[in-house]
Amino acid sequence: MPALTIDKNALEHNISLIRQLAGDADIIAVLKHNAYGLGLCSFAAFLQKRGIRHFAVTDLADATALRKSGIAGNILLLTPLYDFNDIITAILHDIELSITSPSCAEALESAATYLNRFAVPAQLCIDTGFGRYGFLPQDSSRIIDAVYTMHHIRITGIFSHLHASACRDESCVRKQFADFTALCETLSEAGIALEQRHISSSSSLLKFPDMRLDAVRIGSAFVGRLSVPDTLGFQEVCRLTAHITDVHTLPAGHNVGYGNSFRLRRPAITAVTDAGYCHGLGVKHTHYPGNHGCAPLYILRRLKQTITSKAPCARYQDKLFPVLGQICMNCSIIDITDCPLSVGDVVTFPINPVFVDSEVARQYV
Ligand SMILES: *Cc1c(COP(=O)(O)O)cnc(C)c1O
Repeated sequence: MPALTIDKNALEHNISLIRQLAGDADIIAVLKHNAYGLGLCSFAAFLQKRGIRHFAVTDLADATALRKSGIAGNILLLTPLYDFNDIITAILHDIELSITSPSCAEALESAATYLNRFAVPAQLCIDTGFGRYGFLPQDSSRIIDAVYTMHHIRITGIFSHLHASACRDESCVRKQFADFTALCETLSEAGIALEQRHISSSSSLLKFPDMRLDAVRIGSAFVGRLSVPDTLGFQEVCRLTAHITDVHTLPAGHNVGYGNSFRLRRPAITAVTDAGYCHGLGVKHTHYPGNHGCAPLYILRRLKQTITSKAPCARYQDKLFPVLGQICMNCSIIDITDCPLSVGDVVTFPINPVFVDSEVARQYV
């Protein structure tokens, strides 16, 4: 079985870059989907030891798991809860909740009333253009009404999410930010104290330092995988560690892998590794075009990606070994003609940890 190796030095390096960029703003570590694959509780503990005090997740089960594992700081649940028992669970674990609608506010209020708890912390979630969760900024009177009907909930913050911070055109981002800050003003004038205002995440932290407000929510920058050009030197923190399970000599012209898609141009020594696409090897996220009206552009971009994308290479010390043919579910074949390896040798692959099955062990080294 391969393992996911997480380089602590690279992580520390990224954390210190994020600190410099964040300045006085709180850093909220976003730990959705098993902390981007780094391992929910182990990564949270790593951050807590280094002084990070704010965390955010998208699943209640993740929030309670963090609390049970000894995370003492703020844990913000970025998604709404409507189920009475779920809200009770969240309150008893001291989770900061999100309010995305008037009925969500009612549900929180009734659970807090039932528990006879006062000042239960919750943040207002605003949809400034993502089309996902939250009140619309033009609905300030609905927000004010919702807040004033809650007597057991304390508003600890307000947040929104940018949808185009990695795009070249900055106008959407500027509009979202302007709408968000204008709403914050309106709510403040209505007597609602908004302690922690936040809208920025990794891409916008790099591109729009003026949008930091009181906190920044960071996920991908920790992992060193940014969707904007990186001029600061964030480092990739993960490699997939695999083992050579067999070695063969094959003649020129021999097929390798599924689909009749690859033939050896020369006689080769090949090695089978135990890493395949089920471990995330070679897996990429593809964007569905939606109904944007730019389908031809999208198809061209995909075509370009297909043509220019290279097979991943295994690394052994400072030598690289290209993957031959298609990657199988739980193995891959590499060309070791130029530097023979043996069964049992360990090689590593570049990897996006998000796609590494949670069954794969995480090792911090
Ligand atoms: C995923 C997510 C983030 C973190 O985004 P990165 O670009 O990975 O830093 C922040 N806020 C919300 C609401 C998210 O869903």
